[in-house]
Amino acid sequence: MNSSNNVSSFAQRHADYISRLLIASLLTLMLVSINMTVSYASELDYKLVAEPVGKGTYVFIGSTKYFSRKNGGNIANAAYIVTNGGVIVIDTGSSYLYGKQMREYIESTTGLSIIKVFNTHHHPDHFLGNQAFKDVSIASLQEIVNTITTQGEALNNNLYLLVGDWMKETEAYPPTEVVTPGIITIGGHKIEIIALDGHTDSDMTIYDHTTGVLFAGDLIFHNRTPAVANANIKNWLESISKLQKLDYKYLVAGHGPVTTDERAIIQTREYLSWLHDTLQSALDSGLDVSEAIQLTVPDRFKELDILHEEYKRGVLQLYPGMEQAYFE
Ligand SMILES: [Zn+2]
Repeated sequence: MNSSNNVSSFAQRHADYISRLLIASLLTLMLVSINMTVSYASELDYKLVAEPVGKGTYVFIGSTKYFSRKNGGNIANAAYIVTNGGVIVIDTGSSYLYGKQMREYIESTTGLSIIKVFNTHHHPDHFLGNQAFKDVSIASLQEIVNTITTQGEALNNNLYLLVGDWMKETEAYPPTEVVTPGIITIGGHKIEIIALDGHTDSDMTIYDHTTGVLFAGDLIFHNRTPAVANANIKNWLESISKLQKLDYKYLVAGHGPVTTDERAIIQTREYLSWLHDTLQSALDSGLDVSEAIQLTVPDRFKELDILHEEYKRGVLQLYPGMEQAYFE
């Protein structure tokens, strides 16, 4: 009896010891995982703050650098207009997380619902936040809807490679509504949809007649070298001339600070004109891509961020196609 008691109390003590060990291990694991979650969450925060532009319009100004793990892909401008009927969003950033954080910011600061989202073009830094607005009508021009539908997931995967975890759970979610050029009234604002091209095959510009704010999308870059991966520079220059004729009070570029004058328009036009002429004369002189990439970019463009880096990328993206067309 005694000996059996001893055995059972030893077994009991052993079981207690094992269970205390298990609880301690579990607690340690929980603390480690809470700690990891906290540091993970604090790392992945775009810390979005919108800048007011006139009355009732706000812009989240992105970095003027290229995509990186440091900026999480937050390199483009996204905007919103506060109307009597709710909020209109223009572009949704580069990831699901960006879209979610943007939406939280807008809803908590305005106390209003989002009634419409627009995508200015198919580039990933402008539409990959769409997923956070699935319950809202997301509108764009037909060609932009088509390109996001066919190329969106490839662009999403590519951005994941460039910025990593910021893209977690992001899916390419195409616009759900097709708009046509012309004036529509939303929440009492007269919003003009203008169909242009040149930065891509289809670039949608939005002009709010009620406030005088022009959302130029990536047809205008400000203090940042224009990205030309899908560009037709001749068409782009024609689109810029059309934008210049509009009587805007504020111009929201796709990248870089908001402006009230023609400075951003002039910067974009001058760089693109120079790039066009430089690459044409490089073709005329028989330069190959590795030689064209080494041409000197004039000092007068030094205000444009990532100038030399973006010039080289632009030559790599544009020149092979130009060579092919030249020799056909
Ligand atoms: Zn773009």
